[in-house]
Amino acid sequence: MPETPAYPVGLRLAGRRVVVLGGGSVSQRRLPALLAAGADVTLVAPEATPSVEAMAEAGELTWERRRYREGDLADAWYALIATDDPAANAAASAEAEAHRVWAVRSDDAESATAWTPATGRSEGVTVAVLTGRDPRRSAAVRDAIVEGLRDGTLSAPRHRARTAGVALVGGGPGDPDLITVRGRRLLAEADVVIADRLGPRDLLDELPPHVEVVDAAKIPYGRAMAQEAINEALIRHAKAGRSVVRLKGGDPYVFGRGMEEVQQLADAGVPVTVVPGITSAVSVPAAVGIPVTHRGVAHEFTVVSGHLAPDDPRSLVDWEALAHLRGTLVLLMAVERLGAIAETLIRHGRPAGTPVAVVQEGTTAAERTVDATLATAARAVEEAGIRPPAIVVIGEVVSVGPRAGTAGPGAGTAGPGAGTSGADAGA
Ligand code: SAH
Repeated sequence: MPETPAYPVGLRLAGRRVVVLGGGSVSQRRLPALLAAGADVTLVAPEATPSVEAMAEAGELTWERRRYREGDLADAWYALIATDDPAANAAASAEAEAHRVWAVRSDDAESATAWTPATGRSEGVTVAVLTGRDPRRSAAVRDAIVEGLRDGTLSAPRHRARTAGVALVGGGPGDPDLITVRGRRLLAEADVVIADRLGPRDLLDELPPHVEVVDAAKIPYGRAMAQEAINEALIRHAKAGRSVVRLKGGDPYVFGRGMEEVQQLADAGVPVTVVPGITSAVSVPAAVGIPVTHRGVAHEFTVVSGHLAPDDPRSLVDWEALAHLRGTLVLLMAVERLGAIAETLIRHGRPAGTPVAVVQEGTTAAERTVDATLATAARAVEEAGIRPPAIVVIGEVVSVGPRAGTAGPGAGTAGPGAGTSGADAGA
């Protein structure tokens, strides 16, 4: 016989008394959501798990260290009955029933007056799934919905007016899996996307046909002119009431001219939000198995732009000071000037034998790595035909671990981008 379905409802528990009986793993799982809803939680339990104890210590709930006794549920709006004593659970259930307090039970769903759905949240939407007797299925359905909303594969347009404006989104180093959840959602909702040469260009192919894609890499001017044309396009589309995503490689504020664009938009009165991204400075080394710090090896990492030669009067970099550091140096935009940079570092004291790795187009299918030392790096890069975009990592961290995707001797067996596309975390 089919089960009578439960009646779903969203309880507004803020400031209302909720009683939790038992301090074990069930309570530990449910308490965060009760607290997030603002419930005034009283926990009755002789013992509790360390994380439940921590909630009590932090003053997030009131803990009465004792067993359940008749009368505990008086004045409660809602109860979670989850002690390890079936007789106490049954007695509490009976009290809840008598006082008309809705109660869930960890040990006996049949005698409970309420059931906890599998829940998840994504950008202001709460998903709650009840399947009756199949909690795994509930969790799976919940995961499918939350994931789908997050990555845009579940199409559920918002009907509240979206604010027109520009979102400056850091797209990560290139692998489409390495954009943030928020960035991906904004892409799925955009009317116009203005993309760079760097970043997750594969994501552009997935955009629905009505989305206008402006490829900033194809704007046929010099660098300064191109930037002006980009700013002009951002302002024009936003002022026409469209939601615009400015998709940038890595993080928008790491050598990405992000703040220049923010300033221009602000001056034009266009609302801007910035979504941070995973910078190539850290993620590209990681993708090939190089940690930018390692205990006992490097206690600092310094990210430097190599777009100007060390002797260029416009350079703001103190290369001599960098040569005295013992930690990791990560150079961006440095392929063309690697010879001059390496020579300067050696001249000011960095050992010539310091390991160097150069990674071209990290986290993409075209990823390539060249290993060398400070003394040999420029030649190795030239011989291998390494071209921008590439990251240069200088320091002992280069040789601490097993390496993925390395072309040289001792190469790992993993292919390009290995280790970067692992399973996403669940809801
Ligand atoms: N905002 C970006 C950096 C922009 S500067 C970020 O946070 O990653 C452009 C430089 O970034 C390139 O010249 C190169 O040095 C580096 N870069 C970006 N993506 C890269 C990738 N996938 N592989 C190697 N280097 C990359």
